[in-house]
Amino acid sequence: MPNEDKLKAGHKKTEAGKRLSKMMINDYMRLHQKAGEGAFVVWIAIVVPAELFSGFENVVYGVPESHAAMSAGKGVGPLQCEKAERLGYSMDLCSYARIDLGTAFDGGKDSPTFGLPKPHLLISDNNNCSLLVKWFDVYHRTWDVPHFILDIPFCYEQQTARDLNYISSQYRDLIRTIETLSGQKFNIDRVREALEHTKGALTNWKRFLKTAASRPAGLTVFDSFVQMAPFLTSRGTKALAEHYRLLADETEENVAKGIFPVPNEKYRLLWDNIAPWHQLNKMSSRLAALNANLIAASYTYCMGSLEGEFDLYPYDGGDPLTYLARIQNFSICPHGLELRYQAMQRAIETLGIDGVIFASNRSCKVYSLMQMDMLKRVTERLGIPSVMIDVDHADIRKYSEESVFTRIEALLEVIDAKRGAQTPR
Ligand code: SF4
Repeated sequence: MPNEDKLKAGHKKTEAGKRLSKMMINDYMRLHQKAGEGAFVVWIAIVVPAELFSGFENVVYGVPESHAAMSAGKGVGPLQCEKAERLGYSMDLCSYARIDLGTAFDGGKDSPTFGLPKPHLLISDNNNCSLLVKWFDVYHRTWDVPHFILDIPFCYEQQTARDLNYISSQYRDLIRTIETLSGQKFNIDRVREALEHTKGALTNWKRFLKTAASRPAGLTVFDSFVQMAPFLTSRGTKALAEHYRLLADETEENVAKGIFPVPNEKYRLLWDNIAPWHQLNKMSSRLAALNANLIAASYTYCMGSLEGEFDLYPYDGGDPLTYLARIQNFSICPHGLELRYQAMQRAIETLGIDGVIFASNRSCKVYSLMQMDMLKRVTERLGIPSVMIDVDHADIRKYSEESVFTRIEALLEVIDAKRGAQTPR
C-alpha cells in the first residue's frame, strides 16, 4: 500500500477536466460560428471517420450522438426525450435518438450548446446499428437534406481485405459526394496530416488509460468517459493531440506523487457498455464510498484499437483511406462474441480486474445483446465475479439507483468471498 500521508482523494476537477470544459465549449462555438459564416455542415454518426473532412477547406461536422450524451450529462435528457415522445416516437427507441429528435424539432431549445447548426449533408453508418440510419432518415425526409449511408459489414472475426476495400471505396464515393455538394476540392495530404494528430492523440489516450494498471489506479472510468468527448468533436486536430498529452502527463504525475481518485481502493472493476451519462458524479462517489473503483470500460479501451484488441493500432503514414477503413470497426457494437471476449480478457489480465459490471442498456440493444453470454464466459473461464445491472445511458427515467447498487454490493461480497476462499488458512 502507498504511504497514507501521500494519499489524497481525487474526486475534484483536475486541470485536464478544466481544459476539457473549455475545449468542448470552443468546439461547439466554433461549429456554430463557422456554419453561420457559410461552411458546409455535415452531421455524422459517431464512427464516421471525421479526419476525412480535414481534406476540405471549409467542411465542419456535428455529432448528434455526442451532443445527446452531453445533454444527458447536463440533466436535460428526459426533457428532450419527452419532446420526441410527444411527437410520437416510442420510448423504446434509443435515448440518443429521442434526445436528438426532441432537440432538433424544437430548434435547439434547452440544449447546452443551442443544438447543432442545420446540416447540408447527413452521413450515417450502420457499423454500430441500423437504428441510426432510420433516425438520420427522419431528417432526410423532413428537411430534404441528402443522406449518405456508409454500409459497414459486421465483424465476427478479423476484418477481411474484401471488407476493407468495400469500406474504402465508399469513402471515395463520400468524398466525391461532398465535392459535388459543397463545390470544394478534396486534398488527401490534409487528411494525412490530420491522421498524424490522431496518432498522437490516441497514443496518449492509451497512455492515460494505462494509469489504471497502478494500484490504486490512477484514474476512474468516469474520467475516461468524459475525456472521450473531444475525440468525437476534435478528431484529427493538433489541439486534441496536445490535450491528451497533457491529460496523460498529469495522470502519470499524480500516480508518481501518490494522488489517486480512490485512495483506499479495494475493488477494481470493469464496466461493459456505454457510460451512464446521468449518473457520473453519483455513481463515482457512491462506489468510492465502498472503496470500489471502476478502472476500465470496453466503451473506452476500444478507442484506437482494432476489433478484439486492447493495444493501439497506430497510423503508419500510409494511405489514409486504407488506415481509416481498417480502424472503422474499432467500437464494440459491431463485434461478435469472440472478439468482445478477447479484448475484455486482455483488459482484465492487464489491469488486474476483480469484477465486471455488465450494464444491460435499455437503449443500446446492439451493445447489450451478447452480455449474458459474455458474463457466463468471464465468470466460468476467467473466474472473475460479474453482475448484470439495468441502465439506460441517457434516459434517467429507466434507471433505479437502489436496485443497481444492491447488485453492485452483492458483487463486492462475492469478490470478498472469493478472496477469503483463496487466503491460506
Ligand atoms: S442504439 Fe446504440 S449504437 Fe445505436 S445509436 Fe443508440 S447508442 Fe448508438
